[in-house]
Amino acid sequence: MKVADMELRDREEDYVNINPLQTAGRTYAETRKAVSSYVDGYSVCDWCSGDLCSIDKPPVKGFLADVAEFLGMDAALLTNGCREAKYAVLHSITKPGDAVVVDGNKHYTTYVAAERAGLRIYEVKSNGPPEYGIDPEGYAEAFAKVKEETGSMPAAAILTHVDGSYGNVVDAERAGEICRESGVPYLLNTAYSSGRMPIDGGRIGADFIACSCHKSWATGGGNIGLLAVTDEWADKVFRRSSAYDVKTLEILGCSTRGSATVALMASYPRVKERVENWSSEVGNARWLMEELGKIGINQLGVKPTEHDVNFVESDVLYKISETHKKKNYYLYSELKKRGVVGIKAGLTKHFKLSTYGKTRAQVEHVARAFKEIVEEFA
Ligand SMILES: *Cc1c(COP(=O)(O)O)cnc(C)c1O
Repeated sequence: MKVADMELRDREEDYVNINPLQTAGRTYAETRKAVSSYVDGYSVCDWCSGDLCSIDKPPVKGFLADVAEFLGMDAALLTNGCREAKYAVLHSITKPGDAVVVDGNKHYTTYVAAERAGLRIYEVKSNGPPEYGIDPEGYAEAFAKVKEETGSMPAAAILTHVDGSYGNVVDAERAGEICRESGVPYLLNTAYSSGRMPIDGGRIGADFIACSCHKSWATGGGNIGLLAVTDEWADKVFRRSSAYDVKTLEILGCSTRGSATVALMASYPRVKERVENWSSEVGNARWLMEELGKIGINQLGVKPTEHDVNFVESDVLYKISETHKKKNYYLYSELKKRGVVGIKAGLTKHFKLSTYGKTRAQVEHVARAFKEIVEEFA
């Protein structure tokens, strides 16, 4: 069906979607219901007295207090995605020319946030193929290097808790200890972890936690993130305009709102519950990686996998593309024929996939689809 010349999208209804960007952002039925009455512009502003995060109707304020606790932090703010949360922290606590330490598996938004804040970027390299693991001890080495080259400690450290390529889960608690010992403020990027698995910022020792809610909190197509901080930093990072004292500076007074905010609040009770199922999510991913490994589709990254997002390498699937009449687009089309979407069209040798939120039967279906394709064409 078409509306205004747009094909309506049916990926979630008609297919098993394994696109890592989308699996955990998928909304629940009740979320869709709630959103539809808030879809108009400025819809959460009916009872706003100037500050988005203090609105009681719908209960934004209460939600933020609850979610801060859920993350093991003291206060939280709505942001335009994880990227705005990261920039808000860097812009508040550093000055241009300062150094920041990031990990080698960082997302580009970490880099551009630091670049926009005018920072010198130092990197903790991964251990390279096939694991691409990040050793938290690398932060201590990087801090020493910054000290040697600049004369002072870095102004901040950012760790990608789970990277979006390999789905490696880094020991965030150890990185937190190192930051604490060195007195370096610690920002944990949980774009691929919070909302999927339990996160306790207190135990981890994070000063700031950045979240991507359209990616990992079942918040759907809107654009929304969260920034959670400890009391120690709240005044600084959540400071307000000198002329407009209800307007939080780092979100330019008001960030994401409307249906995205309502979607996040509507999905939140389910998100709180679902993080408790994390071990079965990992179980599904491990099972699939093992099955795919048997037919020559091999997981890279830390093994056995500790996350639903995985990166695979396959000579078998690549070889098929050399003779198949659809060339490298065959995999996309053969999978779609079998009811599976989410692998980028054109990829055969290296690609990512995610099993988040799938039932075991669906995961078995995905394994069967790949097996059939290999059997038919290899
Ligand atoms: C997706 C992603 C982001 C960006 O998140 P937004 O909410 O879209 O800003 C940041 N970091 C990582 C690791 C990601 O995977």
